Amino acid sequence: MSTNPTRTHKCVHPYPELLRLRDERKADGTFVRVLDCAICGRYEIPLDIDQLEQVARLQLQFLGESIGIREEKVAEIRDLRRAELRSRTTSE
Ligand SMILES: [Zn+2]
Repeated sequence: MSTNPTRTHKCVHPYPELLRLRDERKADGTFVRVLDCAICGRYEIPLDIDQLEQVARLQLQFLGESIGIREEKVAEIRDLRRAELRSRTTSE
């Protein structure tokens, strides 16, 4: 069982349960978007690099594999967003 299954489609869970972590270039040259879902766990969807703008592609290749977000940071961001959503609904 893989910890990083590649899916064809995003799951149906809404933000902030679903967070987009980063776009990443794999060792074989393909690109994936790494997502973290509170319900589904972390997974990747393949990106069609030919459909990306040239600038975005260059940026992606430059940033490539160097960007990573730690697990604790993901949990922290998710908690912040949840708190924001909560305060927004209770203040109205
Ligand atoms: Zn999900």
